[in-house]
Amino acid sequence: MKVIIATGNPGKVKEIGLAIAPLGWEALSLKDFQLEMPEETETTYEGNALLKSRAICNATGIAALADDSGLEVEALGNEPGVYSARYGGDLPSDQARYELLLKNLGANTHRKAKFVSVVVVSHPDGTDEFYRGEVEGYITREPRGSGGFGYDPVFFVPDYGCTMAELTPEEKHAISHRGRALKALIAAHP
Ligand code: IMP
Repeated sequence: MKVIIATGNPGKVKEIGLAIAPLGWEALSLKDFQLEMPEETETTYEGNALLKSRAICNATGIAALADDSGLEVEALGNEPGVYSARYGGDLPSDQARYELLLKNLGANTHRKAKFVSVVVVSHPDGTDEFYRGEVEGYITREPRGSGGFGYDPVFFVPDYGCTMAELTPEEKHAISHRGRALKALIAAHP
């Protein structure tokens, strides 16, 4: 089966491509199609992921896989959540966004957080598959590591004793929210 990885985020393309190899599906890049991703206008991960996968599947007649994900910080009322990519408005970089997060959290000692990912696969026959994965951790006081993307440098993973940005891609995949959602997808297609 062919599937288009419906994301413009190069960090996600890399992680998803690596993760779905066991399915044996032919993963196509959105770059090879003259298509724009729809705006994320929904208020849930499920809604936004479906919006993206359905739009690309309907436009091409090929199955499409989309992920919508975010970081929920308890002391910030679970912000930035579904708005993680746009935290702080039009900030120029992932670094600017995690610096704003650290500033907003300040010296607060309650630093519990989780990453959430919802993966949707939309098929040309009109059916959609939904998978959710989560990983819990803590927001650090300073960034550490250069791997991954987004908020990885400020997300401490207790199981490994380091930040998500200090893990290899394989280590991150083994425990990450997206890795867990994709493992559920793989388990559903034995
Ligand atoms: P969206 O799913 O395109 O709305 O983007 C989700 C945003 O959440 C990303 O741009 C990152 O800022 C953040 N995010 C999602 N997954 C990860 C991850 O694995 N590591 C770090 N940040 C992430």
